[in-house]
Amino acid sequence: VRVGVLGGGQLGRMLGLAGVPLGLRFRFLDPMPDAPAAEVGELVTGHWSDAAALERFARGVDVVTYEFENVPAETVRRLAERVPVRPGPLALETARDRLREKRFFAGLGVPTAPFAPVDGADQLADAAAAVGLPAVLKTRQLGYDGKGQRVVRRPEELEPAWRELGGVPQILEAFVSFRRELSILGVRGVDGDVAFYPPVENHHHLGILDLTLAPAPALPPALVDRAEAYARAALEALDYAGVLAIELFDAEDGLLVNEMAPRVHNSGHWSIEGAVTSQFENHLRAILGWPLGPTAARCAAGMVNLVGEMPPPEIVLAAPGARLHSYGKVPRPGRKLGHVTVLGADEAERDAAVAVVRRLVAGERGS
Ligand code: AMP
Repeated sequence: VRVGVLGGGQLGRMLGLAGVPLGLRFRFLDPMPDAPAAEVGELVTGHWSDAAALERFARGVDVVTYEFENVPAETVRRLAERVPVRPGPLALETARDRLREKRFFAGLGVPTAPFAPVDGADQLADAAAAVGLPAVLKTRQLGYDGKGQRVVRRPEELEPAWRELGGVPQILEAFVSFRRELSILGVRGVDGDVAFYPPVENHHHLGILDLTLAPAPALPPALVDRAEAYARAALEALDYAGVLAIELFDAEDGLLVNEMAPRVHNSGHWSIEGAVTSQFENHLRAILGWPLGPTAARCAAGMVNLVGEMPPPEIVLAAPGARLHSYGKVPRPGRKLGHVTVLGADEAERDAAVAVVRRLVAGERGS
């Protein structure tokens, strides 16, 4: 069985690493000849709209999935005419437009921060009146890792922020003073079977995921139920197949959905060692119509992202129990180059292991 993956980044690479033991073969499409996934499968180098590259990519693959959601809708629709694309084009199109996404959740009765569309500068004042200030102005498309957004505190900051974001279609969201950020990963099979990973707690640094604690500490069962209900509603409305990640704000007045990603997700990397079945294996099982694997956490896990610089392996591996994942990428400031996972029998043991990894990595950076 051959799986085609749109995008050849670290998520594609980890899908390949999970799928090879299952007897799967992989083909990736990516514009970059040095895409990290090239080490675990065949790489077709080409742009998303390059018809010849798409033809080479699609020939002989049994199912297509993606690890990157900014593939043009047209490309995905064209592929979907000849091979199953899972999750389907609807999930992709909903997830990559923040306005569509927020309206989708609102339509399901799932709470989000109050939001208003900003199609042009003339709508800024109305949007601010509708959601209040402070607020976050975000581009509707192509935002990631905190890029494409500005916090706006005073009315006179609205127009400069809109201009800095390129004057493209935007959305204004009320600023949420959350207690913490969580995410939940759900997986749905072709037959409609659904499973959820435990919600995890995410910490960001400079807009990029820095640390995931899995399961999230101090999780009231009612919160888990609610997070699962929101994820289930989205999975079913999209007739979804695969892993879906939903980012949440744990706020004073309840749990709010921030956004979703129609793919495996950085906040699920802990599941490689920390869950009975990893998010990568379950994504593959789901899109192939195979039975899903158990999603329970085996223990308490911590995942530390390695961003910008890659510490030498022997430094990281000096931390007892540290599992190193290097993506084979050229270092660049702000670039995700790898991650380290540590496990603990309980939260205290996990937190101690995370602290050791952090100290070793920071020491290496000389900070
Ligand atoms: P996003 O690209 O929507 O995931 O946003 C990146 C980060 O910005 C989030 O992880 C939050 O830390 C912060 N953020 C996004 N939206 C809001 C909001 N409405 N209120 C407060 N913080 C936000």
